[in-house]
Amino acid sequence: MREDIINLKNNAIGQIMDTDSDKELEELRIEYLGRNGKINEFLIDLKKLKPDERKDVGILINESKKTIESTLNDKIENLTQFKVDTKEWFDLTAPGVKSEIGNLHAQTKVLTEILNQFSYLGYQIADGPEVESDYYNFEVLNFPKDHPARDAQQTMFFDVTGTKFKPGELIPRTHTSAMQGRVMQKMKPPFRVVVPGRCFRYEQIDASHGVDFWQVEGFAVDKNITFTDLLGTIEYVLKGVFGSDAQIRFATTFFPFVEPGVDTYLKCTVCKGKGCSFCKKSGWSEIMPAGMIHPNVLSTCKIDPKVWRGFAFAIGLSRVVTLKYKIDDLRTLTNPDLRILKQY
Ligand SMILES: [Zn+2]
Repeated sequence: MREDIINLKNNAIGQIMDTDSDKELEELRIEYLGRNGKINEFLIDLKKLKPDERKDVGILINESKKTIESTLNDKIENLTQFKVDTKEWFDLTAPGVKSEIGNLHAQTKVLTEILNQFSYLGYQIADGPEVESDYYNFEVLNFPKDHPARDAQQTMFFDVTGTKFKPGELIPRTHTSAMQGRVMQKMKPPFRVVVPGRCFRYEQIDASHGVDFWQVEGFAVDKNITFTDLLGTIEYVLKGVFGSDAQIRFATTFFPFVEPGVDTYLKCTVCKGKGCSFCKKSGWSEIMPAGMIHPNVLSTCKIDPKVWRGFAFAIGLSRVVTLKYKIDDLRTLTNPDLRILKQY
């Protein structure tokens, strides 16, 4: 009887697989699984067996029934899935529509390149909050409350009515330099750190300014750091990103958190130095302000300025992207038009 059951199961599976007709499949269901079907005939015959044989044969009959059932159901499902609606004609030989592959945003690509340059120089990457306290955004960096240099930061403020914060206590950070204090208070020198992130300023929006922009802040603190180390680092990174023929020039400037301060200009890649709206007709674009960390900043962070020295710099990421891809308007980067985004 065992052999008969196994033969029956194999026959059923063979017949099911051989047909593509719904009608024949239904007939096979009745033939094998129906009330008077072949499986039930075996169940009736089961009573004729000795009690000790019944259990095993019973299990075999049930398993065979399940296998036939699932084979039938799979076949029906398969047929429905690939059934062609013959009422509506379509060309099976027509080529398919190719799905497009996305690409990284120009800003993401350039950020990765910049961070790679710094990783070659042994820098670590830190991340910080976009909503920052006045203390870390200004005070730690040698901007006392009444310092006129705060004006240059074009700070935006939150309406804190009804919260536990005082007006001006929390702000959207104006620079990622706000992380300098957080890192310097936590880590012991020597260290080299870069902080990429989004910053916010109340700016007049034009071809080279926006109200939110990306900055890569970086700083290094060690025992024998000099101003020439800073200039060398800037040159290494900018030439790594823009190529070895990039033209760079430096000019002295003032920021409260550095002394001396230096501004880095890159020859405008949009107009090749001839002067355009992007470089305000000067032929050069400000790209990386920097300087030696002010001793006041080090001592506020409990680092002895008589033992340790450091330098800091900030890269305007969005500006690097526009200069690298020769985009004459910063606003292009936030334009969601795919025809533009696909070009980079
Ligand atoms: Zn230009």
